[in-house]
Formats: sequence, C-alpha cells, structure tokens
Amino acid sequence: MNKGLKFTGVISEEELKRCPGYPSEERFKKGPVAVIECIQEIPCNPCEAACPFGAIEIGEPITNLPVLDEKKCRGCGVCISSCPGLAIFTVDMSYSKTEAVVSFPFEYLPLPKIGEKVKAVNREGRIVTVGRILKIKNSLKNDHTPIISLAIPKKWAAEVRSIVIPQNKKERK
Ligand code: SF4
Ligand code: SF4
Repeated sequence: MNKGLKFTGVISEEELKRCPGYPSEERFKKGPVAVIECIQEIPCNPCEAACPFGAIEIGEPITNLPVLDEKKCRGCGVCISSCPGLAIFTVDMSYSKTEAVVSFPFEYLPLPKIGEKVKAVNREGRIVTVGRILKIKNSLKNDHTPIISLAIPKKWAAEVRSIVIPQNKKERK
C-alpha cells in the first residue's frame, strides 16, 4: 500500500526523516525542542516570524519548507499556535527517566483538566497509550489555539500527537 500524506493523509516515517523541521536524535536527548512536521511546499510562513530565537527559516520563495535550527531552538513552544496547519509540536525527552512531554495544539472543546489521565493518539488518530495532562496554555496570544502538554511513556514520544477529545462533564469520570 502506498504510504505518506498524499495517499493516506498521514505523514509517513520516510517523509518525516526528510523533513528539515525534524530534529536529530542527538538534539531530542538534550531537552525540549520543536518538531515541525511540515512537508508540503505551500505558500505559508507565520512560524518563521513567530520564533523569538530565529530558529525557523523559510526565506524565499515562501513555498520553501521550514528549516529548524535545532541549536537555536529552546523548545519554548511559542511557534505551535502560529501554525494554521497544526503541524508544529514540541517534544521533551528529558522530562523524567520514564516519561517524555509532548505539547500540541488542541482546537476542540471541552478542554481536559490538569492532572487528568487521557487517551493519547498517534498521527492516524489511533489510541496508543495513556497520558497525563500537565499544562494547558490558552492565552490571548494563542488566538484560540490552546496548547496542551502531555506526559507519556517515553517510547511513544515520536508517535503521540494529540488526545481523544474529552467527553462532556456528565460522561467524564
Ligand atoms: S519551540 Fe520556541 S525556540 Fe523552538 S522553534 Fe518554536 S518558537 Fe522557536
Ligand atoms: S506555519 Fe505551519 S504550515 Fe505554515 S510553513 Fe510553518 S509549519 Fe508549515
């Protein structure tokens, strides 16, 4: 079966490896870092201006893929909500011995609660593990794109990119 965004709507491992916004294994080990999963040459560039540390470059033409300068990136997550394609995440492999933290945009309601255990899903929307909500950033600067930080077992850090939408309060236990 053909794999990749064009055929399945889901970015493939090969596409990720070629993506200039994807950090190296060495950089992942050093602490929080942006993961820019943007592989289509579309005319778009707000992420470039959003980074306060100049760690994202697109330049000219605007259809260039965003290139992450992993040395400049501090993993602050400011760029996450700037992306209209919801293609930017941060991953922190240094959070603890057993857990990593993945931060992602989440444009659904209701929002989960801090400390809540939730089902974590991969890029295909399949549940792969359970995570714990650590933080939700929902400031005006984010323009209605809350950023959720989720602690998950380390082995799922390269796969988990969102959570199952929490049910309404009556259904939640
Ligand atoms: S995580 Fe922060 S430092 Fe890294 S690219 Fe995004 S905005 Fe820049
Ligand atoms: S803002 Fe998002 S979609 Fe646009 S170039 Fe940056 S990563 Fe790609």
